[in-house]
Amino acid sequence: MDKSGNGHVWALDQAVDLLISSRYVIAMTGAGVSVESGIPPFRGPGGLWTKHGEPPMDVYQRFLADPKGYWEERLKAPNEIVQALAQAQPNAGHSAMVELEQIGILRHLITQNIDNLHRAAGHQKLAEIHGNAQLLRCIGCSQRFTKEAMVIVLDDLPPRCPTCHGFVKADTVHFGEPIPPEVLEVCFRETRQADCMLVAGTSALVYPAASFPQMVKQHGGVLIEVNLYDTPLTPLADYSLQGPFGEILPTLVEQVRAKLTA
Ligand SMILES: [Zn+2]
Repeated sequence: MDKSGNGHVWALDQAVDLLISSRYVIAMTGAGVSVESGIPPFRGPGGLWTKHGEPPMDVYQRFLADPKGYWEERLKAPNEIVQALAQAQPNAGHSAMVELEQIGILRHLITQNIDNLHRAAGHQKLAEIHGNAQLLRCIGCSQRFTKEAMVIVLDDLPPRCPTCHGFVKADTVHFGEPIPPEVLEVCFRETRQADCMLVAGTSALVYPAASFPQMVKQHGGVLIEVNLYDTPLTPLADYSLQGPFGEILPTLVEQVRAKLTA
């Protein structure tokens, strides 16, 4: 497909029609949509891990072995990612995606991002596959807590779940930690139902996220990709819209609205 010039306009038009005519639309997002909100990516040029080195692959095992040490480490001076997360605001793309949910087109959103921006923008149906950096989670019963709701007593670490007395950690899924099964179950359930998937800001290389667009294709659904660049997913996508998330999504949703009310 010609993805430049008029071809681009044509692809956008087709994508609008697809979003409207599909029976069950879901979306998946990744780091690319957060970069436009000022959150540095982990990998690649300027990435946090490129600059500071990748975190150890056994963070979760370390937590299990020494939860007190894990918490002492966390409560030290905030690092670059914590500061970026605290300052970031949803961008126009996040808001447009919420609008797509509110007008009844988007049924569910799977995000690989931990930055809380989709939730802050107002999504109701959301699976945060790698957790949410603003929340804490009990490893015993999976109950989640806001940081404000959990009293952290410095000389009595780690904090414990008020319900089951299990250890509490960040909700963020660490290296070495399994994705919480109830979150994964929601992702698979939604993906099985979807006949259209909008994939934005991710090359979907990391499993299990990588398997969701493939599943949609395998059962005959269509893929619409939104990204600045070609990605390994582009050859699989039925329509590839190239440009910033914060520009493409509002345009897409505006045109969906216009067609629905025409
Ligand atoms: Zn618990």
